[in-house]
Amino acid sequence: MTDTFKAILVSRDAEKKQSVDVVDLTEADLMEGDVTVAVEATTVNYKDGLAITGKAPVVRRWPLVPGIDFAGTVIESSHADWRKGDKVILNGWGVGETHHGAYAGRARVKGDWLVPLPEGMNAHDAMAVGTAGYTAMLSVMALERHGIVPDRGPVVVTGAAGGVGSVAISILSSLGYHVIASTGRNAESPYLIDLGAAEVISREELSQPAKPLAKERWAGGVDSVGSHTLANVLSMTSYGGAIAACGLAGGMDLPGSVAPFILRGVSLLGIDSVMAPKAVRLEAWRRIGADLDQKKLSTLSRTIGFDGLVAAARDIVEGKVRGRVVVDM
Ligand code: NDP
Repeated sequence: MTDTFKAILVSRDAEKKQSVDVVDLTEADLMEGDVTVAVEATTVNYKDGLAITGKAPVVRRWPLVPGIDFAGTVIESSHADWRKGDKVILNGWGVGETHHGAYAGRARVKGDWLVPLPEGMNAHDAMAVGTAGYTAMLSVMALERHGIVPDRGPVVVTGAAGGVGSVAISILSSLGYHVIASTGRNAESPYLIDLGAAEVISREELSQPAKPLAKERWAGGVDSVGSHTLANVLSMTSYGGAIAACGLAGGMDLPGSVAPFILRGVSLLGIDSVMAPKAVRLEAWRRIGADLDQKKLSTLSRTIGFDGLVAAARDIVEGKVRGRVVVDM
């Protein structure tokens, strides 16, 4: 008898109406690739929420198993780098967008897309970090490359109680930065302070249309919100500072002015996790192992089972999820 495994499948009908079902698949249903992985843990990122609700065109091949990241064990490989039993992580590369993704018991992908699970980290912990946390690390690395070290002044983190925000606060505070957390959920202040935020400010302070320049408040920042928030963050960045822009939870537009760039030499650093080269990924995961306090990982994450996945994906696009959600498969 052929082994089956549970999967979530997003389909659409002739009228392009989207549906989401739990189905049984076999390995024959998986897409092309030279490594097959038993998925042990996955997670719910904002993009997964968009894929499952259909709120944005994340899924671009139908029907598709969503899920942009997983950690698991190689069960079959014809790729030179991987052997049966290897522990691996996958983030991005179009998985869960155009290639069957993480929300299934098994995944078949290109070996070139995989990175090894860092020493001392299990599949569950890797997914507590997940793509959101790896993107937070990419953002911190970009700020460092730009010379934004703790001595330069405070850093702001927007979308603070979300996945990227929670991990960014944890990493930045461990590295000694004075972190200003911006949240729309004031009740989460104690949580954000627990993660290492030195100050918590209200989302409203940054959500109105921005002035070209405003009082200088921070040397750098990690923005997962976009739109007016990013425009305000830029207008409040001090001379020579830099903001890493990685998200669009508040909107994809950027209704701002060039004034911060041309009058204060501020830089806008673009962050993409999906197509980041392997060397950058390896460095980001090494840094996560070194600079993210593992105790904070349990503070900022909660665990659900496969059965709770669709509901959590709906919650995340409504801004109801705090920190990170790990799915133990
Ligand atoms: P989450 O939903 O966990 O976090 C987003 C946070 O943004 C929310 O928790 C909320 O924080 C805030 N927020 C939500 N809606 C609004 C709004 N309308 N206006 C202002 N703030 C809002 O998502 P993730 O952390 O997983 O992802 C964050 C963003 O980063 C997403 O846009 C995602 O697509 C993007 N991303 C990009 C990647 C890349 O490669 N560039 C990789 C991973 C993520 P609070 O309640 O504290 O205000």
